[in-house]
Amino acid sequence: MLIDTHAHYDDEKYAEDLAACLDDVQAAGVSYIVNAAQNIATTHKIMALSKKFPYIYGTAGIHPHEAGSAALTDYEEIRRLTAKGAAAGHKIVAIGETGLDYYYDFSPRDVQKENFTRHIEIALEVGLPLVVHDRDAHEDCLELLDKHGAFGGKVVFHCYSGSLEFAQILAGKGCYFSFGGAITFKNAKKFPEILRGIPKDRLMLETDCPYMTPEPHRGTRNTSAYLPLVAGKMAEILGKSVSEVETLTSANARTFYGI
Ligand SMILES: [Zn+2]
Repeated sequence: MLIDTHAHYDDEKYAEDLAACLDDVQAAGVSYIVNAAQNIATTHKIMALSKKFPYIYGTAGIHPHEAGSAALTDYEEIRRLTAKGAAAGHKIVAIGETGLDYYYDFSPRDVQKENFTRHIEIALEVGLPLVVHDRDAHEDCLELLDKHGAFGGKVVFHCYSGSLEFAQILAGKGCYFSFGGAITFKNAKKFPEILRGIPKDRLMLETDCPYMTPEPHRGTRNTSAYLPLVAGKMAEILGKSVSEVETLTSANARTFYGI
């Protein structure tokens, strides 16, 4: 059993063939999917998807790219949707994806920070894990998480892209990490030492589909049906069997997301 802990099936790239695509995903051995939100509209779309497909769970939140166009009422909406009691009805299992993206800087950095902080507060308030997107913003992510007590709850750095040293600091604070297609890329030289250096009970698999398509399919649309390629690469790096990696990462994902 595999769990794809970060996917985007609300994306328009699946509009034409979603049901057929998800059939392939199930045939590939993926049992559960956590679909990450990027704004309020996608949060609602994901709630509808999770109602329709029993193996899809979702998150609620605003991506740093979208922070600049978020309204104050959006945060109230996230709070309302995920309040204790409300979440049980619609399979929202985490807050996010949120965080800081200093690579694209699509939203001003102070606005990204405020957006991130609001999500940290909501996650702690409603008792759900926090899904962090960190691109070239490691120091500030850590500072905000620490400052607002985020490590009192569960935190995952998705598509982890920092150094081994930074990972070890985060691991010391109880953080989880998910890895996707990037670990299969030919220029991805740093992943072996990072994967080997992170506590094994914190590792999860993801696709971030439709993005981050693993080798040898790079350049085409990604789906969770390619998750076995990521699991295979992780197994090769860790010197474990693929089934050991499946068991390990699925157990970690179930612990983290409570599914
Ligand atoms: Zn994502």
